[in-house]
Amino acid sequence: MSIFKLARANVRTLEPYQSARRIGGKGSILLNANEYPQQKLYMLRSSNINRYPDCQPKEMINRYAAYAAVQPNQVLACRGADEGIELMIRAFCEPGKDAILFCPPTYGMYSVSAETFGIEYRTVPMLDNWQLNINEIFAKLNGVKLIYICSPNNPTGNILNKHDTRKLLDMTYGKTLLVADEAYVDFYPTASITSWLKDYPHLVILRTLSKAFALAGLRCGFTIANVDVIQLLLKVITPYPLSLPVADIAEQALSDEGIRQTSKRIANIKANRDFLMHELAFCPCVRLVFPSVSNYLLVHFDPAYGVFKNLWNQGIILRDQSKQTGLADCIRITVGTSLECKSLIAALKALRC
Ligand SMILES: *Cc1c(COP(=O)(O)O)cnc(C)c1O
Repeated sequence: MSIFKLARANVRTLEPYQSARRIGGKGSILLNANEYPQQKLYMLRSSNINRYPDCQPKEMINRYAAYAAVQPNQVLACRGADEGIELMIRAFCEPGKDAILFCPPTYGMYSVSAETFGIEYRTVPMLDNWQLNINEIFAKLNGVKLIYICSPNNPTGNILNKHDTRKLLDMTYGKTLLVADEAYVDFYPTASITSWLKDYPHLVILRTLSKAFALAGLRCGFTIANVDVIQLLLKVITPYPLSLPVADIAEQALSDEGIRQTSKRIANIKANRDFLMHELAFCPCVRLVFPSVSNYLLVHFDPAYGVFKNLWNQGIILRDQSKQTGLADCIRITVGTSLECKSLIAALKALRC
């Protein structure tokens, strides 16, 4: 008997998200998942793990709300921004009826989450300057419950024009929710649109501790929205999404001292990004480096050099983007330590075609 046959049809055909960990790669220089390159030691302050945790640990929510300059009742903590993406579909989309829409090239989980729940997804490719094609989105809005946008956008590194985002909010009022993925906004805070929540009941913002806060392994993210949205999400979230150790460490990372350390990390990453940007221009294999406000760079390479595979074999693991809409021969490179950046540049300069 085939168990496979018993699975839901959309799950049988589902291609799971190709995470950096799933793709694998052996090496000492991991620049493929936009993680922070160095560890920090945390101590657990509590040991009452015989008890269930609060669904929404209060102190952690209060601290994140203060950090994001919103009210605590506008914040929902979840297992990474990835769970935020999924909770929105669980709460708002009916299979066979509703659709989601997003604009490639962008983050890969929007389509995977939609497929998991049997929800149709529509795409409207970005314009050549990687801004939203507002007219085309408007033309495809019928039946769309959620629009996912990402700013700064992964993997292109640019921010979306706020004027366009506002147009999108005005055209979707009362029909469609706009989910703004701000996973990288800590690297470029003026791109955030959290201050718009008071004007737009259908605006939802996703945040994470995985990137600038250097806690990808913790699995902690936040959904920020008006109270009505948060209340609906609380209906569909699991009873105990965050373990006690997660809440404990997140609280420490969100203390005044924790936030100061995050600011220092961000400054360090920006300095290394500038170094990379400058040096990449002198590598013969590089055709174009796209400007980025984030902790990664998207680079267009000359395919004759076989950059991805050659560096993979040397233990320098990058993220191939060539299958994404409009990104043939492009690779995304996470900004690592200054030593990692130097090793990367040396390896690229040594490549011959
Ligand atoms: C990394 C990333 C996420 C997921 O973050 P987690 O909090 O680790 O689940 C979501 N959106 C974008 C654009 C990302 O790059």
